[in-house]
Amino acid sequence: VEGEKIGNGQSRILVFVRLRPMGKKEREAGSKCCVRIVNKRDVYLTEFANENDYLRLKRLRGRHFTFDASFPDSTTQHEIYSTTTAELVEAVLQGRNGSVFCYGATGAGKTYTMLGTIENPGVMVLAIKDLFNKIRHKSFDGHNVVHLSYLEVYNETVRDLLSPGRPLVLREDKQGIVAAGLTQYRAYSTDEVMALLQQGNLNRTTEPTRANETSSRSHAILQVVIEYRVKDASSNIINRVGKLSLIDLAGSERALATEQRTLRSIEGANINKSLLALSSCINALVEGKKHIPYRNSKLTQLLKDSLSGSCNTVMIANISPSDLSFGETQNTLHWADRAK
Ligand code: ADP
Ligand code: MG
Repeated sequence: VEGEKIGNGQSRILVFVRLRPMGKKEREAGSKCCVRIVNKRDVYLTEFANENDYLRLKRLRGRHFTFDASFPDSTTQHEIYSTTTAELVEAVLQGRNGSVFCYGATGAGKTYTMLGTIENPGVMVLAIKDLFNKIRHKSFDGHNVVHLSYLEVYNETVRDLLSPGRPLVLREDKQGIVAAGLTQYRAYSTDEVMALLQQGNLNRTTEPTRANETSSRSHAILQVVIEYRVKDASSNIINRVGKLSLIDLAGSERALATEQRTLRSIEGANINKSLLALSSCINALVEGKKHIPYRNSKLTQLLKDSLSGSCNTVMIANISPSDLSFGETQNTLHWADRAK
């Protein structure tokens, strides 16, 4: 039997939307802004690139969406981190598993949100920094172990981004499904992490036709496992272990159009099986279904223990303001709306 029972009925996924600033190329192409964010919650699609988009929108759904929070293009990396992920990091320190996903079309700002730049580090770096700071306060003896692994799922092949080489095989062991031989990098401070992750990102698979660009079909998963010791009320020493997964998903541009397809045509069209499987799992989780189809892809197998049970899951949907991306933005908002 596929999937597993979840005891607590409905799962709640926090869903956020982040609008990025208009890019230089978009501005030069004369594009207009078609997204408006009001009160840090409401997202309005305000203009239409063409008649077809307008008709499609009218048929599908309204032009107004509401999320747990919606971030205008002036939002800083720190604001994103503190609103979306800081609480999850607190839960991980209590010994739970949590995951943060960035979803959206290629160019919408997923990697900027997750990894960021040296000057403006993203959620991955800010989360690790916060973990290190908080462990120091919570650990009774100062001892802690922080391990990082960074891998890629590309066309259902799993690769180690910290030690590139042959594809890794998924194996089931006592802890769940693991990638055999995956590097577990022991980190001692935040300073080394940015360089490590940037190097890892360079190891992501590139599309043969666009050698300098990261493939839009690659999912990058950073997992941070933390261990430290606390004393309980009767002075017993307790070992706490928590795991945080931070995922920069593949571009969503073809995901929605393929949801109705048969498995055969999915394989024929070589669409992103893992992204589709993730959508199915998330929809099943939020609908409170008993069986969650984790086995359908490598991504969902790897993340099973971070999505199941009393799940702490955060979704950040990234969108462009340009009316040239109107269709993609609408798809992303529609997808995010269903994940609530
Ligand atoms: P994706 O990973 O979704 O394909 P990127 O994160 O690479 O998209 O973003 C595309 C471009 O837009 C990059 O040049 C990136 O630096 C820029 N960008 C994205 N989000 C922001 C933002 N919030 N502020 C400034 N620049 C951004
Ligand atoms: Mg990217």
